[in-house]
Amino acid sequence: MVLNHSDLHHVVIVGGGFGGLYAAQKLAKAPVRVTLIDKRNFHVFQPLLYQVATGGLSPADISSPLRALLSKNKNTEVLMAEVTNIDPQRQTVKLRYREIEYDSLILATGVTHKYFTNDWEQNAPGLKTIENALEIRRRVFIAFESAEKESNPEKRKDWLTFVLVGGGPAGVELAGALAELAHGTLKEDFRHIDTSQAQIILLQSPDRILPAYPPHLSGEAQTSLEKLGVTVKTGVRVTDITSQSVTYRQGTTLEKIRTRTILWTAGMKASPMANLLAQCAEAKLDSQGRVMVEPDFNLSKYPNIFVIGDLAHYTDAQGKTLPGTAPVAMQEGEYVARFIRNGLQKRPLAPFKYVDWGNLAVIGKHKAVVDMGWLQLSGFLAWFVWLFIHVFYLLEFDNKLIVMIQWVWSYMTKTKGARLITTPGQNPEIKLEDEYETVIYQPSSEVPHCLEVGNR
Ligand SMILES: Cc1cc2nc3c(=O)[nH]c(=O)nc-3n(C[C@H](O)[C@H](O)[C@H](O)COP(=O)(O)OP(=O)(O)OC[C@H]3O[C@@H](n4cnc5c(N)ncnc54)[C@H](O)[C@@H]3O)c2cc1C
Repeated sequence: MVLNHSDLHHVVIVGGGFGGLYAAQKLAKAPVRVTLIDKRNFHVFQPLLYQVATGGLSPADISSPLRALLSKNKNTEVLMAEVTNIDPQRQTVKLRYREIEYDSLILATGVTHKYFTNDWEQNAPGLKTIENALEIRRRVFIAFESAEKESNPEKRKDWLTFVLVGGGPAGVELAGALAELAHGTLKEDFRHIDTSQAQIILLQSPDRILPAYPPHLSGEAQTSLEKLGVTVKTGVRVTDITSQSVTYRQGTTLEKIRTRTILWTAGMKASPMANLLAQCAEAKLDSQGRVMVEPDFNLSKYPNIFVIGDLAHYTDAQGKTLPGTAPVAMQEGEYVARFIRNGLQKRPLAPFKYVDWGNLAVIGKHKAVVDMGWLQLSGFLAWFVWLFIHVFYLLEFDNKLIVMIQWVWSYMTKTKGARLITTPGQNPEIKLEDEYETVIYQPSSEVPHCLEVGNR
């Protein structure tokens, strides 16, 4: 059954993240029909996932229902569904139970974790979705609870050792927040353990953390982390991860850290949509599996299929590949929307030019690094810039005043109110250590497959 017949040009957007949402917003007044499809019914502000993972904020504080965000756009329909296939010749996308025709298709399905060739996901969850953040939160707080009950000092130490693999912005932010949690927030809460004895170890393969930043800002970020009590080990390569240890190579020596909590912040690869496009639409992929796009973000063989955000590999006029960040996805989404609208109205459009506002990473409660090229900051002032930008975005987006109030409160009182251990469908009275062993971390759902093009 093929649905959605109408005279208006139909733009189908897959993915309600930063790229897809901004494209939809920009098309609000265009003479088109828009269908935004996402397998979730909400948009997530991913830069604050680490706060959910460490109990500082609740999932709803950083998420907004897509329907609510787009309710004023009368030309826009929201569908909660997973796109499992694309037929570029018939111009349809396939959902589980139906097909939808498009005139223009915008794909913004983002990225997922990359564990290279290793099967480490179950022992070292990554941080990309709300579910990931809740799983990390569960593991972190179970570790403290288990340590409190453990009488064997060696085993207690294992529970109080937290290892993060990957020293990019997500790893740095998560390590800083964990250190503050253990060494500050939780200090008074337990009777048998001293949470300030917890070790937070950040392993980074390159020779410095935050390699995308200038070296002096990386250095300052490392110093700030160390002041918070994080042990930073650079130039190390992780060779094995089990449920109870991480092994890494430094130079010619192999070291093993005993730990019950390992978190993965090391690498991303394109979502399965990229492979689908390679099979169905002859798209070319880069080494991270991202889709190589033309200057207007479309595919050379199918100019009405656009790929934006983290899923796209875009090289600008200066030969620079744009990074996988929220502002890149937003600006690409807006550009593609304008490109489609102007194309229909036969109006010219200047080529895409990315406006780079710089990079920010927060380290604990009141330090950050900011690299805007012309302005490089670290410490409290940088943290203030970081706070302002994030709160401004959340307020602008969904009036998240509550988030700002919570932040200020948490900043003044050093509390973290969302420290809940929850496991959907599990008996909460289950013995924690056993639960830790048996509850399965669910990796993302099925990989889309390609129909033979022109098969029907
Ligand atoms: C922990 C973390 C911290 C970050 N911090 C920062 C930061 O501080 N600053 C910054 O600029 N950037 C940051 N980023 C990166 C930023 O979040 C991404 O660059 C941005 O989200 C990319 O937007 P996108 O639209 O391409 O994809 P996403 O925002 O990931 O959205 C993809 C959407 O597609 C949907 N989807 C996927 N597959 C399908 C399918 N088959 N069918 C239907 N729907 C589907 C998903 O449900 C999701 O809603 C961070 C990312 C993470 C994970």
